[in-house]
Amino acid sequence: MRSLLFLWILMTFSACKAPYLPIPSYYKVNFSKQPKNIILLIGDGMSIAQISAALYSSKKPFHLEQFPVIGLHKTHSSSDLVTDSAAAATAFAAGKKTYNNAIGVDIDSLPLYTILEEARDRNLATGLVTTVPITHATPAAFAAHQHNRVLSEEIALDLSNSGVDLMIGGGQKYFERRNDDRNLLQEMQAKGYRTESYFYKNLDKIPIGTEDKLLYLTADDSPIGVEQGRDYLPFASLFATHFLERRSDEGFFLMLESGQIDWGGHANDGKRVVSEVLDFNKVIGNVLRYAATNKETLVIVTADHETGGLALNPKTKMGKPQMVFNSNGHTAQLTPVFAYGPQSQLFNGIYDNTMIYHKMREAFGWE
Ligand code: MG
Ligand code: ZN
Repeated sequence: MRSLLFLWILMTFSACKAPYLPIPSYYKVNFSKQPKNIILLIGDGMSIAQISAALYSSKKPFHLEQFPVIGLHKTHSSSDLVTDSAAAATAFAAGKKTYNNAIGVDIDSLPLYTILEEARDRNLATGLVTTVPITHATPAAFAAHQHNRVLSEEIALDLSNSGVDLMIGGGQKYFERRNDDRNLLQEMQAKGYRTESYFYKNLDKIPIGTEDKLLYLTADDSPIGVEQGRDYLPFASLFATHFLERRSDEGFFLMLESGQIDWGGHANDGKRVVSEVLDFNKVIGNVLRYAATNKETLVIVTADHETGGLALNPKTKMGKPQMVFNSNGHTAQLTPVFAYGPQSQLFNGIYDNTMIYHKMREAFGWE
């Protein structure tokens, strides 16, 4: 059984390298059905210009073009018109505007009940997957509660107690070399987690075992970038759907982040932005194919904010975007939302980032 599962994963993984196979077109989506699973894909710092640059650079089909529903969200936090990733992720996770740097807490620094925690309490399987440390703002806001995003060790402790079934990302040192001398990896093993550290690569070497919970660490701190050879996210997207599907008959909630698009924006490095978005494009293709077959999965792709004030200047040509950055920080642009699957029609229009939380709950049919 185990080897069969492994074979299935390998076959599916090699399929994503094969010539492009279009997913069934959107009219085949049963919009009125209720999804059993939600996969929220977040491209950190991936707004319209980042998407455009990658689309014009891509030699392969760009999967965002296949989404039947597109919206825009207003990204501002409670403290600033220009949000950071912590406040933005808290808005997605818990439906409340909060201050920049807040991790899963409200404007008074009190913990908010997140959609991932509610999914867990309703016996759905839950997962967080990222290309940055798992303690970083975007994944953290779904399962940790801290007044400031810099508190990586406190966030790791929250994550270790969160009960999230699957976590994939960097940040091993925050679990095992801590100021309080606790070894959270050992503590998590005692609670039924398998913990693995296959840095950067080789996620495909890990068999899906029979254990319910897995923490898979991809780096001691920050994973390398795509340009340096990181390639685990597309495989992790397949691994995660299969792992979570097996974990619960009730369905699952998975947040999967491409976290380094933002770092390319901060560095004003256009090539890096494009390489990270194109890596994310593979992930989006994998998830779309999964959802098109599964038919009970709502897929949402969005960003927390724009990074770099990126413009594509007049000499832009196909394959050669002229990328000019206006800032090394975040900007206040509206940010796109792409949705596919049952109840995806809810994501049409212009709305606050907090509505993504409410729309996901509505899609699940939760009162
Ligand atoms: Mg992030
Ligand atoms: Zn940023």
